[in-house]
Amino acid sequence: MSTKSDRQFDPASLRRCVPRGALQIVERIAGAGGQAFLVGGCLRDLLLGRSPKDWDIATDLTPEQVRSLFRRVHEVGAAFGTLLVPRRDGIYEVTTFRTESTYSDGRHPDEVTYTHRLEEDLQRRDFTINAMAWDLRGERIEDPFGGIEDLSRRQIRAVGNPGERFREDALRLLRAVRFATQLGFHIEKETWEAVGVASEGLKRISAERIREELNLIMLAPKPSTGLLLLQAAGLLRIILPELEACRGVKQNRFHAYDVFTHSLLAADAAPQNNLVIRMAALLHDIAKPETREERHGDFTFYAHQVLGARKAHRILRRLRYPNEERERITHLIYHHMFYYEPKWTDSAVRRFAHTVGLENIPDLIHLRLADMIGNGRKSGDTSPLQALLRRVDEVIAKDTALSVKDLAIGGHELMDLGVPKGPGIGQILRALLEKVLDDPEVNTGEALLEEARAMIAAGVHLPLDRPARGFTHTETAGDEPGRS
Ligand code: ATP
Ligand code: MG
Repeated sequence: MSTKSDRQFDPASLRRCVPRGALQIVERIAGAGGQAFLVGGCLRDLLLGRSPKDWDIATDLTPEQVRSLFRRVHEVGAAFGTLLVPRRDGIYEVTTFRTESTYSDGRHPDEVTYTHRLEEDLQRRDFTINAMAWDLRGERIEDPFGGIEDLSRRQIRAVGNPGERFREDALRLLRAVRFATQLGFHIEKETWEAVGVASEGLKRISAERIREELNLIMLAPKPSTGLLLLQAAGLLRIILPELEACRGVKQNRFHAYDVFTHSLLAADAAPQNNLVIRMAALLHDIAKPETREERHGDFTFYAHQVLGARKAHRILRRLRYPNEERERITHLIYHHMFYYEPKWTDSAVRRFAHTVGLENIPDLIHLRLADMIGNGRKSGDTSPLQALLRRVDEVIAKDTALSVKDLAIGGHELMDLGVPKGPGIGQILRALLEKVLDDPEVNTGEALLEEARAMIAAGVHLPLDRPARGFTHTETAGDEPGRS
């Protein structure tokens, strides 16, 4: 079949990059008279000198035949002809050559049919650079669609008619953008035009699959590349209309860019390996369009971090982000406007750590640095943020109490003092924490019990709508005792 290309291909040195497990599987299948090839993303990545994420092997043997060759297999994708074969150095996907029939829902093939012809299997694959195969022994790569040529041109090109391929499976729209972003490739002209035409099809794709592709874009070296492609193709308005709405929203004089560009640059500037900070950077100003007000010829965005956290929460829920990620991202957005100056007292640093949560401070500072870089004006001095990080480290080193659970006394001791079980306990503990944040020395059992007795006498534990003992005036509402 196939176009042969020897460019960039040195079988001997490439073979050394293939893990033992993959070599063993291919040899065993070949020994049993079958064909076996390394296919798809792993071959693409090998040729690019990148480390493959997973290893896929394609064969003409049926899943039953493959099963009989190995002592242990996992059946996970058996319905589609895929078996997982565990080896000592990892788990390999072994998939029977197959063709895919029509996709009436734009997501899944109606039927999967096995075939003996490798080329038919390669034909169902999305992009030329993902549609190559190598049997690990030979001196040539099976490359019927010119994938090697496209690798050297650094381009993403659909296998076959791009419009048809995107109509079959609209996830490929995002995959095109994602591969372009991850690899730093461009999308070939005809394929790119087809992305724009087929963009509406993305509405049929599940939120989870969209989220996975978005995450891969966000974890690429420069997510802005992908986000701009998504925008230009009409995909962003389907995935993140709220971000699309930030286009052209001008900011105040400290910003060189509109909210959209600023958000993208902030995402680029956030640490690459950290999805939470990258997503927080992308969405930190998401409520700027609706909070913008013009004052004295400039713009303000009052409380945009609060509304932004709420809006981001809705977006992340819609995209089915796991709860823990969603909470961490929105928490960072909520607090991203914190104001620090070197003259903060130690007590102010402890209060800040208490409000934000010690574990979140490094992330918050990274977000703030990304935000500053994204401003595009060289006005930002990052040294106060670095200083804050150092001071927070000092707080951690001193092991001072930053939350109620770090206090030297707890609910039991308060109940021993006669406070009934209920919200009053928490009220007193929070008031005690305030004291300790001011002065960590007070965090001893003895000192806190003494404070607690005084608070109980003053009625700190009583409901706010009940007049407190020890107060002479009758009106206590709005005058919260014990809370400074
Ligand atoms: P990654 O580095 O993310 O693993 P990959 O190219 O290996 O990228 P996978 O999702 O692991 O992507 O899929 C393996 C191979 O299966 C692809 O290289 C491609 O040949 C084929 N493939 C995956 N998804 C599709 C799809 N939606 N349409 C057509 N072919 C696909
Ligand atoms: Mg893969």
